[in-house]
Amino acid sequence: MIITDLDNTLLDENYGFEAAEGTLRKLKERSVPLIIATSKTIGETLHFQKLLGIDYPFVVENGGAAYIPRAFYLSQGKEPFFEGEFYEIPLGVPFEELLNFMEEFSRKHGARFSFLHTMSVEEVAKLTGLPPHLALLARRRDWDIPFLPEDEGVVPLLEREARAKGLRLQKGGIFYHLTGDHSKASALGQVLKASGLEDYLIIALGDSPNDLEMLKMAQVPVLVSATPDSLREMKREIPRLRAYEEKAARGWARAVEDILKEIEGGELWQTFIRQG
Ligand SMILES: [Mg+2]
Repeated sequence: MIITDLDNTLLDENYGFEAAEGTLRKLKERSVPLIIATSKTIGETLHFQKLLGIDYPFVVENGGAAYIPRAFYLSQGKEPFFEGEFYEIPLGVPFEELLNFMEEFSRKHGARFSFLHTMSVEEVAKLTGLPPHLALLARRRDWDIPFLPEDEGVVPLLEREARAKGLRLQKGGIFYHLTGDHSKASALGQVLKASGLEDYLIIALGDSPNDLEMLKMAQVPVLVSATPDSLREMKREIPRLRAYEEKAARGWARAVEDILKEIEGGELWQTFIRQG
């Protein structure tokens, strides 16, 4: 099974994956499950599930929730036990609760923030480089508050108070994110079990610190778009990490092709037998 991050891992800077299309076709021919675990919203993720032509379970908003599509159950020859298009596994703290915390903090300390959800679609598109139709989907979040502080000096205090409330503050590529205390890995654990996919060999691909826990849970962890800094940091935590400096989606495709060759040549299995 392949578990993958989207931004800067499978998706290039234009949010495309043309360079990986041949490899994706090979995975489909071999019926290798492709599981997305992303910081993106359900709206954005469904857009990419559709483009990729997959119905596998997926994780959104850095583990805020996981979803099992009805179509996945049907494709497994199983009768869905739920109504509607998806079975939702909610794992995060709801948006309104997070917003209450931020507003209370603002009142108490006179701190000012600009929130992603109150920005115009044009502003979001400019900040993120997303095309407007995706910027619109990115703004609507259920388990995460992305924001920019007016004064960066307030961040350490905010982080302490968030942690005291069992919340987590993380710096992403552009925004700070306030979420519940969850990760892509914790959500993956739950959704793989719930969908009967927990016995697969896991090949995981990611590019940044929010992928660390997910890479740790994989038998074959792969860092793509690797920089000297990210490589040093991640390798310290995961000595068996494979790294590709080549950027998404080219680096993604190269990594998966290398692994497929090893699996088909039998080398990868021998590695496991030796390790086991
Ligand atoms: Mg990423």
